[in-house]
Amino acid sequence: MDWNKEVLARKEELIKDTQRLLKIKSLLDEENATPDAPLGEGVKEALQFMLKLGEKDGFVTKNVDNLAGHLEFGQGEELIGILCHVDVVPEGDGWTSDPFGAEIRDGKIFARGAIDDKGPTMAAYYAMKMVKELGLPLNKRVRMIIGTDEESNWRCVDHYFKHEEMPTCGFAPDADFPIIYAEKGIADYDLVQQGLGSSNDGKNVLLSFESGRRYNMVPDYAKANISGDGSDLAGAFERFLNENEVTGKHSNTAEGFLLEVEGVSAHGMEPDKGKNAGLFLAKFLSGQELDRQASAYVQFVTTYFQQDSRGKALGIAYSDDITGDLTMNVGKLSYKKDVGGTLGLNMRYPVTTNLDETLSRLKDKVFNEGFAIENFTDSKPHHVDEQDFLVQTLKKVYEEQTGEKAELLSIGGGTYARSLKSGVAFGPLFPGRPDIAHQKDEYMIIEDLLKATAIYAQAIYELAK
Ligand SMILES: [Zn+2]
Repeated sequence: MDWNKEVLARKEELIKDTQRLLKIKSLLDEENATPDAPLGEGVKEALQFMLKLGEKDGFVTKNVDNLAGHLEFGQGEELIGILCHVDVVPEGDGWTSDPFGAEIRDGKIFARGAIDDKGPTMAAYYAMKMVKELGLPLNKRVRMIIGTDEESNWRCVDHYFKHEEMPTCGFAPDADFPIIYAEKGIADYDLVQQGLGSSNDGKNVLLSFESGRRYNMVPDYAKANISGDGSDLAGAFERFLNENEVTGKHSNTAEGFLLEVEGVSAHGMEPDKGKNAGLFLAKFLSGQELDRQASAYVQFVTTYFQQDSRGKALGIAYSDDITGDLTMNVGKLSYKKDVGGTLGLNMRYPVTTNLDETLSRLKDKVFNEGFAIENFTDSKPHHVDEQDFLVQTLKKVYEEQTGEKAELLSIGGGTYARSLKSGVAFGPLFPGRPDIAHQKDEYMIIEDLLKATAIYAQAIYELAK
């Protein structure tokens, strides 16, 4: 079968339908949610657009409460799933053309959602349509599952899989080619200082300390308020900034002495790519004479997290060949006099980690330092065996279609594929292409759209035949 030829025969139609889908402003809109449009009218419209397209082309379609839906064809006991989403993140500023105009320039379609995930959704749709139109014999059913809340809270797939069948295996065209087969576990939690009671027993009293708002980001700003005029701290702070090559400033306020540090933000899955402003400010404070409670807080932060994103000082460092190192990002730091301090952590752990053991070691360690673990949430690691039929089949297809070796990728982040029981992320971004998802002037290269369609078509056929 010449899959590329089949795609080219449908090229104009594929581009037009992609543009039509991209023109729908499918942003989460909870303010205007109704029982009939629980995430707003925009995402509902995009979902219905796909379902109508499927109906027209003879797929069995189902709308699951305007949160998700599916298109299905083929027959058999087993079900192959293709997981896509039609919601997009807000467009932001600075676009060259209308972010919902789907303008074509230099062989690219520009629009919010072009690469994430409407372009790939349409590629996968045409892939299904091709296999169906060619009338190739299948022994399994093939189902495209369409979510509308991937960019926010995954309420789409949560709801969908509560009511609908879980595919035997499948893929999500919502990340990178060749194949992402392993993803670390992701846990967010707080370490909360247990009350020492208020104290005014140091030379300086730390009134407040604040840095970062999200678990999964390296904070690029931190500030601390200290009692007094800071005359004994100013010089030392300036030297500290110089020695550590970070920028910052100090000033006198109505409350006292304000210290500010600027760092470099980065994604929480690799904290070493950034400069954590909160950790630097805590390090400075740990060298000063502070009240007892504040001193315990900044000492703790510095001892266990400064220059250590792998949990070594905490005794929980771990690594495996599949997904690499356990990583710890201190995404939030906050301290208030009379209340105490908190650290908000984003911990990404390898697929073979014994989480219970790790947590019990962590709990003991921080307990001895006067801290407790609170607000723990966890998304389990996701891994499909390299020898699995799914991985082997997709590998073969990718190599045949591109002539390149299909390296298996493992990542610290989480892809949509983890909502499938046995699923991998498979495209649409080809190796070497810049990742422009969520950025201004997001685009999909038309040549890549066509290539991905051919790959998905062969993949669907090989998985379902
Ligand atoms: Zn996506």
